[in-house]
Amino acid sequence: MTFTNVMKKNKLMAIVASIYLIIFVLMPEKAAIAVSNSTYYLIEMVQILPVIFLLTVAIEALIPKETITKRLGEKSGFLGNILSLLLGSLSAGPIYAAFPISKMLLSKGASVSNIVIILSSWAVIKIPMLANEAKFLGVSFMGVRWVLTVIAILIMAWITEKLVDKKDMLKAGTVETDNHIAINKDYCIGCGICVKMMPQVYEIIDQKAHVIEAGIKPCDDAMIQKTAEKCPTHAIAVKRKGGAVA
Ligand code: SF4
Repeated sequence: MTFTNVMKKNKLMAIVASIYLIIFVLMPEKAAIAVSNSTYYLIEMVQILPVIFLLTVAIEALIPKETITKRLGEKSGFLGNILSLLLGSLSAGPIYAAFPISKMLLSKGASVSNIVIILSSWAVIKIPMLANEAKFLGVSFMGVRWVLTVIAILIMAWITEKLVDKKDMLKAGTVETDNHIAINKDYCIGCGICVKMMPQVYEIIDQKAHVIEAGIKPCDDAMIQKTAEKCPTHAIAVKRKGGAVA
């Protein structure tokens, strides 16, 4: 992979590195402060994120997709909103820790509106935060703010659900791979062989295999090819991006 390709695939990192370079040349003393602050946040993230990733993997393994779809999905209704509010309010840790968990819940069937509720309540109405708020600013202030914030969160969740496409959210942060997987639904008999081989890439919905785009990683290319070969009805086609069949 050439340097240009690496830069293209990591655009945000390339922009940040360029900004740092410019600051180092033009304002070295400010650059030193920026490095010190970045180091502080990096250390904090290194301490917290492994725990969050372990928690995410544990939830992913222990809670079936059907449960998350039923309790937090598009059809979960007001009860789903309440559960999301509770999940966010009972959480611990900084808000960036909520993003991998939210992504996992989204990929397992949670609705966009419930993800907005979890993230927003995690950020602004966590229970330890409310307790401190009541102590310093009074119970009535905390109570009124809580009620108004919950109303605002529910409105935001409803609007975001209407404006944002869940597929775009699932694609965000995924790494571009060389291959594209297509499943011919007319051929698929829902035998589940592909799911057994790569549960992170395939899932069965309504007795047909579907591709989980967010689960595909560049290092999976060989295994993906094997799933296509093992599929008894040749329903899986793996195509090189650009058109040719791999
Ligand atoms: S292996 Fe083929 S037929 Fe079986 S579920 Fe997967 S795509 Fe469908």
